[in-house]
Amino acid sequence: MSTDVSAAPAPGTVLHGAGVGRRVAVGPVVRVQPAPAVPGDAPVLRDGAPVPEPEVPDAVRAAFAGVADALRAQADRSSGTVAEVLGATAMMADDPALRDQVLARVGGGEPAVAALDAVVGQFAAMFEQAGGYLAERVTDLRSVRDRVVARLAGLPDPGVPELREPSVVVARDLAPADTAALDLARVLALVTEEGGPTGHTAIIAGQNGIPCVVRATGATALAEGTVVAVDAGAGTVLVEPDEAARAALDARAAAERALEADTAPGATADGHAVALLANIGTAEDAERLAGAAVEGVGLFRTEVLFLGRQQAPTVDEQAAAYARVLRALGPDRKVVVRTLDAGADKPLAFANLTPEENPALGVRGYRLVRSAPDLLTDQLAALARAGAETGTQPWVMAPMIATPAEARAFAEAVRAAGLRTAGVMVEVPAAALRAGAVLEEVDFVSLGTNDLAQYTMAADRLRGELVDLLDAWQPAVLELVAATARGGAGAGRPVGVCGESASDPLMALVLAGLGVTSLSMSPAALPAVRFALRRHTLAECRAMADAALAAADPAAGRAAVTALLDPEARAALGL
Ligand code: PEP
Ligand code: MG
Repeated sequence: MSTDVSAAPAPGTVLHGAGVGRRVAVGPVVRVQPAPAVPGDAPVLRDGAPVPEPEVPDAVRAAFAGVADALRAQADRSSGTVAEVLGATAMMADDPALRDQVLARVGGGEPAVAALDAVVGQFAAMFEQAGGYLAERVTDLRSVRDRVVARLAGLPDPGVPELREPSVVVARDLAPADTAALDLARVLALVTEEGGPTGHTAIIAGQNGIPCVVRATGATALAEGTVVAVDAGAGTVLVEPDEAARAALDARAAAERALEADTAPGATADGHAVALLANIGTAEDAERLAGAAVEGVGLFRTEVLFLGRQQAPTVDEQAAAYARVLRALGPDRKVVVRTLDAGADKPLAFANLTPEENPALGVRGYRLVRSAPDLLTDQLAALARAGAETGTQPWVMAPMIATPAEARAFAEAVRAAGLRTAGVMVEVPAAALRAGAVLEEVDFVSLGTNDLAQYTMAADRLRGELVDLLDAWQPAVLELVAATARGGAGAGRPVGVCGESASDPLMALVLAGLGVTSLSMSPAALPAVRFALRRHTLAECRAMADAALAAADPAAGRAAVTALLDPEARAALGL
C-alpha cells in the first residue's frame, strides 16, 4: 500500500461507504499493511542500500530474528486469542528448520526472496498434506514469509499492526486471519475500502458492536494517525472533525446509550410481541450475551467453528462448543443453531472439494448432504449430545433450502438424531414462494435476507459495487418476505428474519408489519430496533409494510416509511 501522504483526503472531507450498525467513534487511523509484492530476485536492502552478497545470510538471519522478536513482544502485550495467534506465529519465525533451509538455498546462490518463497511453499504443501493442526498453521507460515520479505525489502511490517491506543483500523479489506490478530478491545471502528455490508468484516464488527463503514472510497489514502469520525449510521468517515462535528457525534453517542437502557422484550406499542434475538458465530459471542437483554439466539453460524480447517472438528469438539453456547444462554432462552453453511462466500477445504464455476449456485449449504452427508449427521449428533448434556434443546435449521422435499429430509435427519425442533432458512426465492408447503415439513423458518436479496436480484453479495441491487428494501425482495410471512401465518408457525435487514430499525417495522415473528441481529443493533417497535402499533407497522411494498424502488420505500414514523422516534433514531 502506498504511504503517499499528498493523496490523503483534506480535513473536513467526508468519505462515503456502507455503514454497519449505528454507532459512532472518533479516533486516530491505524492502517493495515497488505503483504508486499516483492519480486523473487529483488535485492536485500539495509537502510535503503543493497546488502553486499557475503552479508546476505546475516541479513536473512536478522530478518527472521526481528520478525520473531516483534511478534513475541506483541504477544506479551496482548491476551486471549490474539496472544495465542501471535505467539504461534512467533514460534514459526524462530523455527531453525525453516530458516536453515532458506540459508542453504541462499548459500547456493539463490536470491533471498525467491529462496524464502520456495521453502515456505514446500513447508506449506507438507503442512497441508499432514492435515489437522499443522494444516491450520499454513496461514501463520505465510504471515511469517510476508513479514520476513518486508524486512528484507526494507518495507513496513505487513498485516494488522499492534494497537497501542484505541484506534480506527483502516484496511483495503480484512481477511479472517487479520481479524483473529486484531485486539478488538482497542478497535474503535473498522473502515474498509472494499468488502460489502454482509461480508466477513461487517459481520465481525456487528457482532462486537464496533462501528464499521465498508466500501469507503478513498479510505486507504488516509494517513496513519489522522483523526477521523466514523458514523456507521450515516455510512460516513469524516476526516479531522472540527469541534462542532465532534459535539454532534457526542450527542448521537449519548442518544444511542439512552436507547440501550431499555431492556424489555420486543413488542409493538400495542403489545404485539416480536422476539428480539442475537446472531452469533462463536461460544465467546454467546458468553457475551449471558447478562444481555436479548431473548435468545436466532442464528448461530456454526461454520465459524469449521473455517480455516483442513478437516471437520470431531463430534466431541463440536458438542463441547455447542454445549458452551447452550449453557451461556441458559434454559429459558431459545438458541437457533444453523447447520454448516459451507460454500460460496464461506468455502471449506474438506467440504467444497470440486471447484465450481458458480459456487453461489452450486453445492453449498444444505446441498452438501449430497456429497458429504457425514458432515450433517455428525453435526446433528453433536447438537443432540450438547442438548442432552445441558438440558436445553437447541432449535436446528438448515441453510439454502430450495424445496419442501429438502425441508422434509432435513427434518427427518434432525428428528432421527433425537432433536425436537427443526426449521429451515428461507434464502432461495423458490422456498419463499412455496413457504406454506415448506412449513408443512418443519416447525419454523428464518429468512436469510442477505442471500435472499442475492438470489432474487441475481447480484453477487461479495460484489460491493452491486450494493444497490443487494438492498433488502428492493420491493421484489420484500414481496418474497411477504409471501413467506403469509405461509407462516397460514401454517401457524414462526417466521423469523436473521439477515442483516433485521438490524435496520426502519426495516424492522416493515418486517413486523409483514407478519415476521422474530428479528435476529448483531446485539449492538438491538436497542434501536426495540425502541422503533415500541413506538409504533402493529397497525402502523402494517401501513409501513404496505408503503414499502408499493414503492417503486428502495429509496422510495425508505422515504415512504420514514414519512409514517412517529416524529419523536424519527428524531431519536436520527432518521
Ligand atoms: C443470510 O443469508 O441472510 C444469512 C443470515 O446467512 P449468511 O449471511 O450467513 O449467509
Ligand atoms: Mg445465507
